[in-house]
Amino acid sequence: MHDELFRRIEDKTDEVVALTRELIGFPTINPPGEGYAPCAEFLGRRLEGRGFEVAYHRAEGVVGDSARYPRTNVVARFEGRGPGPCVHFNGHIDVVPPGRGWSMDPFAGEVRDGKVYGRGACDMKGGIAAAVIALEAILEAGFDFPGAIEVSGTVDEESGGFAGVAYLAEQGFFSRPRVDHVIIPEPLNVDRVCIGHRGVWWAEIETKGRVAHGSMPFLGDCAVRHMGAFLERIERELLPALAQKRTKMPVVPEGARQSTLNVNSIHGGLAEDFDGLPAPMVPDSCRMVIDRRYLIEEDPKEVKAEVVAILDALGRERPGFAYDLRDVLEFAPTLTDADAPVVRAVAAGIEEVLGRPAERVVSPGTYDQKHVVRIGKLKDCIAYGPGILDLAHQPDEYVAIDDMVASAKVMAVATLALLMGAAA
Ligand SMILES: [Zn+2]
Repeated sequence: MHDELFRRIEDKTDEVVALTRELIGFPTINPPGEGYAPCAEFLGRRLEGRGFEVAYHRAEGVVGDSARYPRTNVVARFEGRGPGPCVHFNGHIDVVPPGRGWSMDPFAGEVRDGKVYGRGACDMKGGIAAAVIALEAILEAGFDFPGAIEVSGTVDEESGGFAGVAYLAEQGFFSRPRVDHVIIPEPLNVDRVCIGHRGVWWAEIETKGRVAHGSMPFLGDCAVRHMGAFLERIERELLPALAQKRTKMPVVPEGARQSTLNVNSIHGGLAEDFDGLPAPMVPDSCRMVIDRRYLIEEDPKEVKAEVVAILDALGRERPGFAYDLRDVLEFAPTLTDADAPVVRAVAAGIEEVLGRPAERVVSPGTYDQKHVVRIGKLKDCIAYGPGILDLAHQPDEYVAIDDMVASAKVMAVATLALLMGAAA
């Protein structure tokens, strides 16, 4: 049905590879937010050259923004022939630091065996490239569509998205009537539509103690031992209880189809940033950050109450046990209706392009959909894009070229279906 359009996209295989490599070449490492403006401007110039109206929006005054590290977002819009819906593709341009273990330069965009390698290849510069190619193919094919198409390249998704999608959403960029359907090309695999994510609560817990000489610990009160007692209760009571909390949300991978808790960090006693010998001290403070992921079936108040209950029980059982608990970050789960227009359009595209039914999935971690739903009040939002989620943030991250081409086809037919209805 879309043979000509598909051929056109296949002919652009080299172009999607080149664009992905160029995007990977901007080391947009977050933190601290390196090179955002040049990458946003590169994307903006490209779309401007294809007739899009392009604007840059720096999130001045938002956490992370500075003269050295400006949080520059780009929004590009192409108006169709008259009033109609707007389909928006949003991709984050930031990547996590490369880390160790690479067998190649993480920012060279090496091409090997049908794959493009590099930090951000799958998460999510390959997805951005696929979306751009899909829309360019629609324009070149001369489809006479109503409404508008938009592409945004936004910052800081990896650190919460406050200066990126949240900032733009606050200015109305992710609300009706400007936008109707949002597709975020995160790497969830070419045959899956991601309809939402689990909730998240990060908290910092500090146990208190009293300083004394390390040779006479009985004169002080060790904050690390108090934290140890708390950790022991997490192991013995909380983790098994969380494993029992199963969800109807189709979370992938399967292991995340339950509540989870990670200990993100723990620090107690003297700082370690010195070379000499440590001093014998009983630590008076120990801090731990927990990362609790919860389900649509759970009440966030209850999620917190379970942790507080353990801490309060320890307060009754352990002499001297005192703690502080501080919320660091929290987002509720989101779940788009499995029959929402954008879900149906992309699922139909997957069936047409790949010849197999689309799987509807939920992401274990949050992504920018939370801001679109929470601030923009727009529920017709999903993630769909090329790449394997498990590879995100790993060394030797890659995206398969065939997957980019296939997903670009899916994005193109889904866009046409949303803009033109049955006429597409
Ligand atoms: Zn991502």
